[in-house]
Amino acid sequence: MRKTSCLLAVFALLIVTVVTPAQKTGRPGILQLQSPQNPRLGFVIHGGAGVIRKGSLTEEQEQEYRAKLEEAVLAGYKALKEGKTGLDAVEAAIRILEDSPLFNAGKGAVFTADGKNELDASVMDGMTLNAGAVAGLHRVRNPITLARAVMEKSPHVMMIGEGAEKFAEEMKLELVDPKYFFTQRRWDALQRIIQQEKEKESKASARKFEYSGSEREDPYNKFGTVGAVALDKDGNLAAGTSTGGMTYKKYGRVGDVPVIGAGTYADNNTCAVSATGWGEFFIRLSVARDIAALMEYRALPVQQAADIVIQQKLQKAGGDGGVIAIDKFGNIGISFNSEGMYRAYIDKDGKPVVEIYGDQ
Ligand code: ASP
Repeated sequence: MRKTSCLLAVFALLIVTVVTPAQKTGRPGILQLQSPQNPRLGFVIHGGAGVIRKGSLTEEQEQEYRAKLEEAVLAGYKALKEGKTGLDAVEAAIRILEDSPLFNAGKGAVFTADGKNELDASVMDGMTLNAGAVAGLHRVRNPITLARAVMEKSPHVMMIGEGAEKFAEEMKLELVDPKYFFTQRRWDALQRIIQQEKEKESKASARKFEYSGSEREDPYNKFGTVGAVALDKDGNLAAGTSTGGMTYKKYGRVGDVPVIGAGTYADNNTCAVSATGWGEFFIRLSVARDIAALMEYRALPVQQAADIVIQQKLQKAGGDGGVIAIDKFGNIGISFNSEGMYRAYIDKDGKPVVEIYGDQ
């Protein structure tokens, strides 16, 4: 008996010594558990990078883009405020952008050289490092949701083409007729490139297809891959990206978007990243993972890490595009070496900020 009370006294003493003032509530004797991490929420989206010059959009078109970006960023932030996960927020925002014909993802996807729409997407969970990716889809209305299903409901990371669509059917996701993805302006953009290519050929040019040329001058034509990164109330990071790829891409071409570490990456220890731009360069440079690696091994802030990879490495390699990123404290990094990037984020007062051009 004496031994028991002695043990109890030691135990009580231990509690009193271990409890720091921050853990005490106003009421003596009542302990309050500290929240697991910094509970700040963070949310950033992009709608593609490219040559987007002031004046190249009419006022009406600019308003349309701004309104859709604001709707999507607010939808993701609302999910976070309701206590949902970063993955929920990323998926909610990307679905809105996929359903809009304005962006090169879902409904607004660009056309391949042979006149099809082939969609890619991926998602990553920074807490578990689980990831899901899909490529070469023709019938899935919301590729981001299928990417998430691959991550959560299959033992795999990446599924492609018909197999991925069969899996979408099994998961009871919405499938559409491939014609659903037809939009006139993306079709016209393809016709313009076909014409340009014919002219090049007739000049006996042996140049390979490039992600450049006059078509890039039209902000409507090629850009508009969409992506989102989130920090949720539990301190977990998530990233997702969805695209129709590049106009005039060859059948079966897969870009960076479904390549984990290239177009999408998330790790709670560093950051979440979603990219947009000339996919072949983003794959070769492992852009998204490289940003996380700079934070992990060189302890760089997220903005500096993003700038090194985009403004120095990507620039030097001859690629173009940009990234959005967020770290575990909610610090945002945005970097692009193109003239503009459709983007939106929630500022420190919880207000949405939408930007398009280099100087906002
Ligand atoms: N990164 C995409 C791809 O190469 C295209 C883009 O972001 O504009 O498929």
